Amino acid sequence: MPICGRGEALMPELISDLKEMRRVVKEARRAGKTVGFVPTMGYFHRGHLSLMERAREENDLVVVSIFVNPTQFGPTEDFREYPRDLERDLALAGEVGVDIVFHPPVEDMYPPPYRTYVEVEGITETLCGAFRPGHFRGVTTVVTKLFHLVPADRAYFGAKDAQQALVIRKMVEDLNFDIEVVICPTVREEDGLAMSSRNVYLGEEERRAATALYRSLCVARDLLEKGERNSSSILSEMHRVLDEEPLVRPEYVEIVDCQEMRPLDRVEGEVVVALAARVGRARLIDNLMLRVDEEGITLLP
Ligand code: AMP
Repeated sequence: MPICGRGEALMPELISDLKEMRRVVKEARRAGKTVGFVPTMGYFHRGHLSLMERAREENDLVVVSIFVNPTQFGPTEDFREYPRDLERDLALAGEVGVDIVFHPPVEDMYPPPYRTYVEVEGITETLCGAFRPGHFRGVTTVVTKLFHLVPADRAYFGAKDAQQALVIRKMVEDLNFDIEVVICPTVREEDGLAMSSRNVYLGEEERRAATALYRSLCVARDLLEKGERNSSSILSEMHRVLDEEPLVRPEYVEIVDCQEMRPLDRVEGEVVVALAARVGRARLIDNLMLRVDEEGITLLP
């Protein structure tokens, strides 16, 4: 078992057997090694790689899972078309020093008849939860299963999916998982578009129009920096930016608090300025996690 690929582009070990995965992690921990875990759906971009690099810095053993989880996709969503390229992913993971890629078969993760789900209440009902019924139930279920199969010290999630990261952090607290949830900054393209595996769905014109998402977040940030605290004033300026791009069809634009994920009238404390929009056949999300107080604003995490 390669335990450290730092500096050398070793191919990670590929494990698809569930029991073998758990055995390897338990053995590493018994030997006193710390384990960092990055759950993904694959088709890696620099956002994914940034989580792996952080995990590499902070742990002795780094495990990345690649699993396109059917239970978090709705019946009309893109489970089948979701981009997949295991060979390319293995090479990229190797370049950042990942030790193990866990790639379990769907039928082993959900052997029929599958009956057990994990649900976090309340904070899963707003934002993406309101538009993707059952999505977070699928996410929290698969992450619970993955945490049992990869009993790591730390798990790494991107702020790009802020609601997901906060839901998982709450689940870990409520269900007493012995794992630290580390939230890492969003990695963006040069023009600000948040990296996403789904960006491959965008045509040329759509790709250009999609920059409106980040531009509208920047407008919100600038207004907050100037002292604006009224949520509806900020949201209407954000909508103005999005409305300039007919190819962008917003699903929601909200400012919520990080604890309850509920819309705020007045913006203060730890907040998420979040939006989702359809651009062509892609559904894109983006956000800024911020601390807002009298002093000004600080970008989180
Ligand atoms: P996914 O494969 O889309 O399920 O993403 C796997 C992990 O990578 C999740 O924790 C995401 O939040 C994170 N991630 C996705 N895109 C980005 C990005 N642009 N920057 C940072 N993290 C990201």
